[in-house]
Amino acid sequence: MIETEVLIIGGGIAGASTAYHMGQAGRHVTLLERGEIASEASGVNAGAIGALGWGNVPNLESHLTMGSLEIFKSLQIELGYDIEFRRSGCLQAIQTEAELAYMQKRVTALRSQGYTVDLLSTSEAQTLEPGISPALLGCLYMPLRAQADPKKATRALASAAEQSGARMLLNYEVTGIQPYSDATYQVETSRGPCRAATLVIAAGAWCSGIGAMLGLHIPIVPVRGQMWASAALPPRVFHTLSAAESSLQWQTARGNDTQTPPYLTHLGEQRVTRHLYGRQTHAGEIIFGGDRQLAGYHTIPDSAGIEVNHRHAAEVLPFLRELPVQRTWAGLMPFPLDGAPLLGKISQHPSLYIVSGLASSGFGRGPMAGKLLADYIHTGHRPHVLAEADPARCVTALE
Ligand SMILES: Cc1cc2nc3c(=O)[nH]c(=O)nc-3n(C[C@H](O)[C@H](O)[C@H](O)COP(=O)(O)OP(=O)(O)OC[C@H]3O[C@@H](n4cnc5c(N)ncnc54)[C@H](O)[C@@H]3O)c2cc1C
Repeated sequence: MIETEVLIIGGGIAGASTAYHMGQAGRHVTLLERGEIASEASGVNAGAIGALGWGNVPNLESHLTMGSLEIFKSLQIELGYDIEFRRSGCLQAIQTEAELAYMQKRVTALRSQGYTVDLLSTSEAQTLEPGISPALLGCLYMPLRAQADPKKATRALASAAEQSGARMLLNYEVTGIQPYSDATYQVETSRGPCRAATLVIAAGAWCSGIGAMLGLHIPIVPVRGQMWASAALPPRVFHTLSAAESSLQWQTARGNDTQTPPYLTHLGEQRVTRHLYGRQTHAGEIIFGGDRQLAGYHTIPDSAGIEVNHRHAAEVLPFLRELPVQRTWAGLMPFPLDGAPLLGKISQHPSLYIVSGLASSGFGRGPMAGKLLADYIHTGHRPHVLAEADPARCVTALE
């Protein structure tokens, strides 16, 4: 029987960061991962790190993004892990008059709240990113945004956690959980039982299955994200790139209901918008993705969606028209039904916590999500910004 103080289920970026920060606080931590570290969403994402600044009144989003930026930076610069971190900035392409009008209002609002964003004319944007199309109507510029290799960054956090004393048990699949009356948990795994006083659910798109083992309904659903890559090229794309079309669509229609999370590109089989994000990796591949579709636990990319995304990317970077897709892949993102993350204590059982629901931006927000949760567990005091991510709002007993 493995015994530990804090048991974390899931070795993605959320679990690895929680383990690292708990280890740093001197706690006895064990992490169970059914595959390898970063074998799911945390290893296959685009590696884009979102950040607009702290703002005049820092909220949860600014803590998650700016705090994570600091953690990525410290992994690369202070701890010496090569995670290919770079504060590249991000350009968001504006393609229609309606998008331009929306972005003008959005930039004014964001700047008045103290965030670092700018609206650039296309020619100004071309001086930063020479390959963008002259047909754009301008770009939203977010200079604090960054990028890193997702697998390397998640593995660096796990390795830093081990350096801090955390134990990483790989190829351990959790198959059942028994809460005992002495406020401990016995967790059954494919390789034997573990016992712990504190349990942390960091199982990404699989959180609802772990919740069911405890008689709980955790409203997080898997959303398929898919990407494609070109062959490796010499350096040609310098920022992370995105497009304004989906922002405008989701501003007017979030598209959610009781079974469907907000901010999807498809409702059923029907496309409602095109979404775009991408960058050039350190190895030279141009990678882009964007679709977000409910497809159960299937991770086979939809080739029609890849084609739409490739064409959209070529509208922003015309040289991509002649550049064929070399490979495609997909992963599952943990989308909460109400759109807000679940970070904190689950009150139905003693010492039970969750760090998940980070949806489509969990790579860029996961490091700080893990730190905030570790601070909460270690001190017993909830960081005030976690109030808006309280799982009590939506986690219920299973009927
Ligand atoms: C194609 C794609 C592109 C994306 N692009 C970006 C981006 O550019 N920027 C960004 O910020 N975010 C991006 N995301 C989202 C981001 O990847 C996720 O939000 C984030 O990785 C979620 O991390 P996690 O640790 O919560 O989940 P995961 O990385 O999925 O980790 C959960 C872990 O739990 C393990 N697990 C599950 N069940 C069990 C069990 N029973 N026993 C043991 N272990 C278990 C899994 O094996 C898995 O490793 C993208 C996602 C995808 C799919």
